[in-house]
Amino acid sequence: MTETAGGLVYKVIECLIFDHDHWMVLTAALVCICGSGLTMLLTRRMVRASGRRKFVQVALTSMIGGATIWSTHFIAMLAFDPGYPHAYEPIKTAASLLIAVGGLVLTNWTLAYAVHPRRAMMSGAMFGLTVSLMHYVGMLAYLVPGDLVWNLPRLAASVAIGAGLGVIAYWRVAKPLRQMGWLSSSLLMVLAICGMHFTGMSALEIVLNPLVAVPVSVIADTQLSTVILAVMAVILLVGFASFSIEMSLEGEALRQRQQSALVDGLTMLPNRSHLENALSDLQRLLAQDPEMHLTVVTLDLEQFKKVNATYGNATGDAVLKTVAERLLTLTQAHQFVARTGGNEFVALCIESTGKGDTAGFVERLRAAVERPMAVRDVWISLTTAIGVATTRDNGREVDALLLNSGVAMRVAKSDPDQPIAFFDPTMEQDQRALDLLGQDLHRALDREEFSLVFQRQNELASLEVTGFEALLRWTHPTQGPISPGVFIPLAESNGLIHRIGMWVLRAACQEAASWPRDLTIAVNVAPQQLIQPDFVDEVGAVLEATGLPSTRLELEITEASVIGDQAHTLRVIGRLRAMGIRIAMDDFGTGYSSLSMLQTIPFDKIKVDRSFITQVHNNPLRAAIVRSTLLIGTALKIPVLAEGVEDPEELAFLRAEGCDAVQGFYFGKPVGLDDVRAIVQADELRVAS
Ligand code: C2E
Ligand code: MG
Ligand code: MG
Repeated sequence: MTETAGGLVYKVIECLIFDHDHWMVLTAALVCICGSGLTMLLTRRMVRASGRRKFVQVALTSMIGGATIWSTHFIAMLAFDPGYPHAYEPIKTAASLLIAVGGLVLTNWTLAYAVHPRRAMMSGAMFGLTVSLMHYVGMLAYLVPGDLVWNLPRLAASVAIGAGLGVIAYWRVAKPLRQMGWLSSSLLMVLAICGMHFTGMSALEIVLNPLVAVPVSVIADTQLSTVILAVMAVILLVGFASFSIEMSLEGEALRQRQQSALVDGLTMLPNRSHLENALSDLQRLLAQDPEMHLTVVTLDLEQFKKVNATYGNATGDAVLKTVAERLLTLTQAHQFVARTGGNEFVALCIESTGKGDTAGFVERLRAAVERPMAVRDVWISLTTAIGVATTRDNGREVDALLLNSGVAMRVAKSDPDQPIAFFDPTMEQDQRALDLLGQDLHRALDREEFSLVFQRQNELASLEVTGFEALLRWTHPTQGPISPGVFIPLAESNGLIHRIGMWVLRAACQEAASWPRDLTIAVNVAPQQLIQPDFVDEVGAVLEATGLPSTRLELEITEASVIGDQAHTLRVIGRLRAMGIRIAMDDFGTGYSSLSMLQTIPFDKIKVDRSFITQVHNNPLRAAIVRSTLLIGTALKIPVLAEGVEDPEELAFLRAEGCDAVQGFYFGKPVGLDDVRAIVQADELRVAS
């Protein structure tokens, strides 16, 4: 006869009410609830743990889970009162405990190492089957004066209830995004254990048999349940303790991670994220208090890359730490400083009254950075480009202030005469215009907007033209001629310089090859060009294609080319010189370590920068620099060319000091193709002075 679901429920409730001690059932339920809650919490952590921790978590979770289902079963068994003497066979009882823990190890193992809904459901089924197996092995240990007769459909229902609810419980607990999923899973685990147990108990009928003797039980059921309860309490307490220790350790680790996510590891200053948090807090304060003011200062350490390249990264790091310490010493309670990029710092100054000393604050920051510093046995002096934006002049939106101070900093960076720039809205337009120009530069080559001009270079003794320097010009379709001082840095920053530079080289060599005289052609080479792996081959290909003898080509490089990867530059220069090409050091004296460059690189010419030649006869310092450069040139047997000669006094000075060659407006401004052709075809190349 098949039993309806209603009938089954009725039978289970009847069994629970009439055959059980209610207080002990309640105790079993309490153990089950606490144990299940802890088991599911631990299961969640086990799923997320990794490495050795996962292994330990599997063991702990299995022990707590196994102990929970076993003790719930056993206390509930003790609550069951068949009305006859009864006892428990110890070996089978112990076996049921082993089954509970072992089954949970399998359950957890299945889930822990492959978290997937299907695996979770498999685990849940294993869990339910473990509960049933433990239960029925436990029942085999149950000794009564009769035979145990089982109602098989109910027995099957008990197994199905345990497994079914187990599947749902484990499926839910393994879902990654459900923070509180463990709660419903715990409830389902309780229902799985209790549902299986009491349905199983309702399937049991004891048929008395006088032939079956029951050994006298030495321990009363209540005493036994107290012992189990005490042991279970200890297990649960250990479980809770380890859980909460782990939680607090994790919390601590999380706090540390959050903390370190806000700190720059090198300088230990707040980083950009920290700055952004501070700014959004300040935004609230600014909204509440109209009297309050904020100044945002962006500082860029100029020449920092050179320090790194010249003295190594360790020195660069030490410089950054020193700057950070100085800025930190300077900042007071209402000020804040952060490192926001490689060589960029941002300082905030909050003023609670209308009047503040913004300029003084900025000057102090600048002085702190620019004071020479002794770092790892070298003295280093940096300059800094500073951009300032303040609520007094630039609105009260903190994000805009940060952006604006960055824009102002870039303006300060591009203008050596203005190391501190206060933001004004035209700067933004300038910056945008520069961005647009950068985009136009991409199309300039294809649209043939570039051209070359040539400036003569003269031997000083005879004043004879020895060659020309090719200089690039860009005529923008709407804006007209753009200065190389503007578009060369743009091309360098957006990576176009290599293509453009090769165009210059090809056009210059082609032009020089067509001249009737063996004049030199000097071509400027940007640092990014020199580091291209195939640069030397490309130069060779241009010489071959244009037919220009390599001895007529001179490549002008600046110090910036050398300081990147000195060894590589040295190799490239060696190969170029081996081909017969000459290498000139352009803009000598303006760099950071021009003298040490001369020591490392075998240059064929030194071009003293125009800034030292202007009014050299009236300026003792420039005169001294030029004289010493000429001395070095003589000592190293490197000819020296003076750039930017504009008047006869400068020329007279250079002649008196024994300079080898000159270039400048005095002899002629850079000229276009027609003019240069006229010059090279003239009978006489001398220039009267
Ligand atoms: P540079 O290589 O030092 O070129 C010399 C610059 O000084 C040229 O400016 C030239 O016109 C200018 N100059 C020469 N004599 C005098 C003088 O007596 N008085 C004054 N006031 N100026 C004089 P330009 O053509 O504006 O070029 C500026 C810089 O742009 C160049 O400096 C060079 O660094 C760069 N440049 C120009 N063409 C190229 C190129 O094809 N490739 C690369 N990478 N850079 C280039
Ligand atoms: Mg040059
Ligand atoms: Mg120069």
